[in-house]
Amino acid sequence: MGNNSIQVNLCSTGKEKPESDQLQFGRVFTDHMFIMDYSQPEGWHDARIVPYQPLTIDPSSMVFHYGQTVFEGLKAYLSPEGDAQLFRPEKNLERLNRSNDRLCIPPIDEDFALEAIKRLVALEKEWIPDSEGTSLYIRPFIISTEPYLGVAPSQQYKFIVILSPVGAYYKEGINPVKIAVENNFVRTVTGGTGEAKTGGNYAASLKAQELVANSGYAQVLWLDGIERKYIEEVGSMNVFFKINGEVVTPALNGSILEGVTRNSVIQLLKHWNIPIIERKVSMEEVYQAYKDGLLEEAFGAGTAAVISPIGQLTWKLEHLFINNGKTGEIAKKLYDTLTEIQYGKQEDPFGWIE
Ligand code: PMP
Repeated sequence: MGNNSIQVNLCSTGKEKPESDQLQFGRVFTDHMFIMDYSQPEGWHDARIVPYQPLTIDPSSMVFHYGQTVFEGLKAYLSPEGDAQLFRPEKNLERLNRSNDRLCIPPIDEDFALEAIKRLVALEKEWIPDSEGTSLYIRPFIISTEPYLGVAPSQQYKFIVILSPVGAYYKEGINPVKIAVENNFVRTVTGGTGEAKTGGNYAASLKAQELVANSGYAQVLWLDGIERKYIEEVGSMNVFFKINGEVVTPALNGSILEGVTRNSVIQLLKHWNIPIIERKVSMEEVYQAYKDGLLEEAFGAGTAAVISPIGQLTWKLEHLFINNGKTGEIAKKLYDTLTEIQYGKQEDPFGWIE
């Protein structure tokens, strides 16, 4: 598929880099980007690293109208030795191809895409910030670019990778958040696009997020779209509960996005011999466990925050204060272990670092 060479066209002068303790999320981009095109009969071709720049695309490009697009999110971390480290990048590329399949986008060559990401990150190594908890966020994405207004899979695409230095998610240490259970809006349904990482899922989530943010909540807890009964995800993270000594997380059901962090949390818990079960979890069950004094911890898991403890969960008119609003032991241990592996401060027993 495609040819395996990457043309490199460097910019003449680089931009000024922001101070690493002043960084936000996703506002500043590095000097270069990777791009390749898809058309027929060539397939994916013309792989190149070029100066970061606006795209010129036809207003009739299909992505603007019917949203045929997918993306990924992963990070490069600076190790104590000053090396750029990626965390399980092959998982993101596998997921990108699963998303591609759902959106009728032609698959990419995962090995070649990983090579391209590594080349780009190596070129932009100076952009990896070095303050505690900072990283270089990597955003690979594909857009459909055929100029055509028919509802059909596009015949032309662009695969692009951009990089953004990002600040520490927790500036004052890992911190529990307030979450509202969403009873009205749903993110997606089984059979829909929930297990794909596609723009429409995020567009559909904004309204619920906006409404709860006005009431002081950080995120919503999504319930299933059919019975509004079973827990699916928290904001754009997977979710875990510790009930009576056992960790449970919603089983993948076709509407939940399979997180790389979720998979890593499950592996770590198994490694530590902590019981972890993937199954259906209803909000009623979590509420009952809380009433019985058995709800010990709740936390989200995703690339951005790694682990995000839930200190308060509001369901209808009930406020559940979990672990007295403090970070639980398991959440803390997972956070410390995952971040130490990511930043190369701890051994990597699973071979997660590239
Ligand atoms: N669910 C959704 C909807 C997400 O957008 C993300 C972030 N990619 C996750 C879960 C967590 O996935 P990961 O651990 O791969 O970041």
